Amino acid sequence: MIVGVLVELANKNVDKIFDYKVNAELQKSIKVGIRVLVPFGKQIVEGFVLEIKKSSEYNSDLKEIINIKDEEIVLNEELLELGKVMHTDTLATLISCYQAMLPKALKAKKGSVINKKFQLFYQLNKDLVNDLQKITTKQQLIIDKCQKEGLVSRKELLEISEGALKTLIKKNILLEVKKEKYRLNYNSSKLQQKELTKEQKQVVEEVLANKEQLIHLLYGVTGSGKTEVYMELIEEALKQGKSSIVLVPEISLTPQMVERFQARFGDKIAAIHSALSEGEKYDEWRRIVRKEATIVIGARSAIFAPLENIGMIIVDEEHSDSYKQSDLNPKYNAKDIAIYRSKYHKCPVIFGSATPSLEAYARALKGNYNLLKLEKRINDRELPTVHIVDMNKEIKNSKGHFSNTLLEAIKKCLDRKEQVILLLNRRGYASFVTCKNCGYTFKCPNCDITLTYHKSSNTLRCHYCGYGEKVYTTCPKCQEEALNNLGVGTQKVEEELIKNFKTRILRMDYDTTSRKGMHEKMIMAFKNQEYDILLGTQIVAKGLDFENVTLVGVINADTSLNIPDFRSSENTFSLLEQVAGRSGRSKKGEVIIQTFNPDHYAISYTKMHDYDGFYKKEMQIRRELKYPPYYYLVNIKISGKDSTYILNEANKIKKSLQRNLLNCIILGPSTSMIFKMNNIYRYNILLKYKKEDNLRIILEKILDHYKTVSKIKIDINFNPSQML
Ligand code: ADP
Ligand code: ZN
Repeated sequence: MIVGVLVELANKNVDKIFDYKVNAELQKSIKVGIRVLVPFGKQIVEGFVLEIKKSSEYNSDLKEIINIKDEEIVLNEELLELGKVMHTDTLATLISCYQAMLPKALKAKKGSVINKKFQLFYQLNKDLVNDLQKITTKQQLIIDKCQKEGLVSRKELLEISEGALKTLIKKNILLEVKKEKYRLNYNSSKLQQKELTKEQKQVVEEVLANKEQLIHLLYGVTGSGKTEVYMELIEEALKQGKSSIVLVPEISLTPQMVERFQARFGDKIAAIHSALSEGEKYDEWRRIVRKEATIVIGARSAIFAPLENIGMIIVDEEHSDSYKQSDLNPKYNAKDIAIYRSKYHKCPVIFGSATPSLEAYARALKGNYNLLKLEKRINDRELPTVHIVDMNKEIKNSKGHFSNTLLEAIKKCLDRKEQVILLLNRRGYASFVTCKNCGYTFKCPNCDITLTYHKSSNTLRCHYCGYGEKVYTTCPKCQEEALNNLGVGTQKVEEELIKNFKTRILRMDYDTTSRKGMHEKMIMAFKNQEYDILLGTQIVAKGLDFENVTLVGVINADTSLNIPDFRSSENTFSLLEQVAGRSGRSKKGEVIIQTFNPDHYAISYTKMHDYDGFYKKEMQIRRELKYPPYYYLVNIKISGKDSTYILNEANKIKKSLQRNLLNCIILGPSTSMIFKMNNIYRYNILLKYKKEDNLRIILEKILDHYKTVSKIKIDINFNPSQML
């Protein structure tokens, strides 16, 4: 027997399948998808068995497998195939694609052993229990509990009576059962199930009935009850004995959602999130493999859950850029993987959002996805009224960051004993220059994106095309000497609030929520009305459902408009609409947006919650400037320590691309947003194209050409979510 093994070495040069012999003893345990230990050069390394065959094309003496690492299959047939597709699509190494699918605890690393924890449980010895003569009340309680629940933990029985427990064990009436203990506890406190509204029912029925189109975009306004729809669809899958995946952008930031799922589905849920330890993640992974958990909720990587027989895939907040892996290879998008798995299992995939990504909405309008709508809020609640405050006018009469309009509204809301959420927009903070007086920002004349400030050279630069200009001291619009490149922090705003209101303020940002479980505690405290004002960064815009919030204030709507990214308008509109959606969920609510750009369409369209209006306007701009969804993008990042050398090579790469790719628009090389990082210089070449058959072949050749050159690193990112 010969096996083809993909070895775990993070080196492009060895991303190949090597043949090994298998001795007679190991042959019976060999399966495709398990891990083995093999000799490789002078080392012993781990690898995946990808093929089993009778003979090898290599005639030279093959080495033998040393041992089998784990008897259980680590990657099933579907995931093995998916890895190959990802490898082709992203040009990342095959081994990195497989590694992305597995919990860290399973990846090759010397000396990292995860201990399994065992716990003692008891069950009744049915043969003896009927022969019992004298029984105390306590003993009877224990027996009743075990009769009802089967397996009961020692801890629970100890709570009834230690003496009675000891006696029953001694008499052999209780038998000890050793069971693996998982690190997480699930309490299913059955929630009252909600009767679906007519709109919700229609959506569920349409998904279940439509066997032609399996990809759905669920466009449902904030508070329209999307989560309830998801749960109903999963319930249907469960009834058919099928499993489900639910993706959320950042699971540790959506405790309310996970809670609702756990309340309904109990320990069928496996929740995979970044706050779990590696051991806990490994536990969850094994619960899935053993089919103990059949509903997986998690962020991006949960899309690789080793489920079989998937019946439903949900991608909530589909517009979120967190579904794309940008920092590491493979640079995959979990939404593409969701579509792949939906095709493989012939099951529906639902992309849900109150502000769909332009790409998804465009596809839905073209009929590539089925468009589902939830246009009404639950209980026919109206969407909140939005007031846009022009800070150009207000700034002169107001101290600090608050307009009088917003201060007044906060006061009234507090008087009514209702709650306030305040958003301090910190996306794109500090890297651009803006005028404190009039809000003017500098833009690239070629690309219409904000120029980024470079302190070292005191210049403003475009990160797409490389355009640059010197920094002015006076504002070209209002002529004031008021240019600044600093934003505000939540702490400063909190101090201002304290001066104005004697009230309980909860500050929530990445500093105050970094401790494990802190975010959840804060959300509960605000829900229980222990605070009147919740002040925070982007995290307050995400999926929160508080009944008593009737005012949402946005302190600075503009900062996210200034990020040098063609998606900055889309991201701003989406952020404002999402945070606005926290207001008025059970009483009439309002929203106040402070801005220096009241006429900017990303802001003005939020006034009527006009997603369609925004969509049309933004699509026009995308068409004119040749951005997605009209064009595809690929970013090529060229980095290295010697800036002259890499710029030189970047120019060579550009020339070669120009020769070979005739249907591409090629921009750059331009400096990266952060040009120098850890003494590594970075340049980008950006490709725009509609159709380019040679693209992957040419890019692969470039990767190949440089793979043995240590002075330079080439990184390719298809359909990047952020322009870095
Ligand atoms: P979305 O995700 O669309 O913003 P949610 O799913 O959070 O909306 O639902 C908003 C609120 O409405 C939640 O408190 C939810 O429990 C409630 N809800 C959803 N569906 C129903 C229903 N059919 N009947 C009553 N309440 C519902
Ligand atoms: Zn430019």
